[in-house]
Amino acid sequence: MAHKILVASTNPGKLKELREMLAGDIEWVGLSDFPNVPEVKEDGKTFAENARKKALGYAKATGLWTLADDSGLVVDALGGQPGVKSARFSGDKEAERGLLDHKNMAKVLNLLEGVPKDKRTARFVCCLCLAGPEKVLIETQGELEGIINEQQAGENGFGYDPVLFLPKLNKTVAQLTNTEKNAISHRGNAIRKFKPLIKNLLGNA
Ligand code: IMP
Repeated sequence: MAHKILVASTNPGKLKELREMLAGDIEWVGLSDFPNVPEVKEDGKTFAENARKKALGYAKATGLWTLADDSGLVVDALGGQPGVKSARFSGDKEAERGLLDHKNMAKVLNLLEGVPKDKRTARFVCCLCLAGPEKVLIETQGELEGIINEQQAGENGFGYDPVLFLPKLNKTVAQLTNTEKNAISHRGNAIRKFKPLIKNLLGNA
């Protein structure tokens, strides 16, 4: 029988991505299947803490194994900011997605004005956590290293993709196709580490 696992997200894109990358004897359900479950607040100090809090919180509320993630941009010259505040770094809580992304990137670029290339190191980080109601079962972390570009470049992707420049590819993340991004991304890397661990866990379940 397929193992039912809740993905702690209402984002259909994330569900689709997980379904595709973690195919197997798993029935994935999303938070939209549980409209009465109260929201678990993402108020941790690290990506790992937030992922763990969401996975345990929703697993307790539903009784299901729950997979949660948290991700964002870490800029060394900004002491790790925007970090867990990546989604709302500009302080604007109302703007629609595209404008919000633009404002968040503008703030990072402004703060880094005059900072030389070799000091503009940064990375996307993604933490995944699978938990049951009582305990954490699996935790993985993936990263994508780059440097913050002088300006936004590229049309693909979302969030901070147009400002993370990948020297080896001579492109920003927003200049990659979806397939190219998934093959090297922080989320892709976290999922690739997760895969054998869940296979092992289900084999032993
Ligand atoms: P969340 O983990 O989906 O809540 O993402 C938090 C924020 O981190 C997003 O709103 C983006 O600003 C940023 N972020 C996470 N993953 C990516 C990515 O793959 N590209 C660009 N920005 C990202």
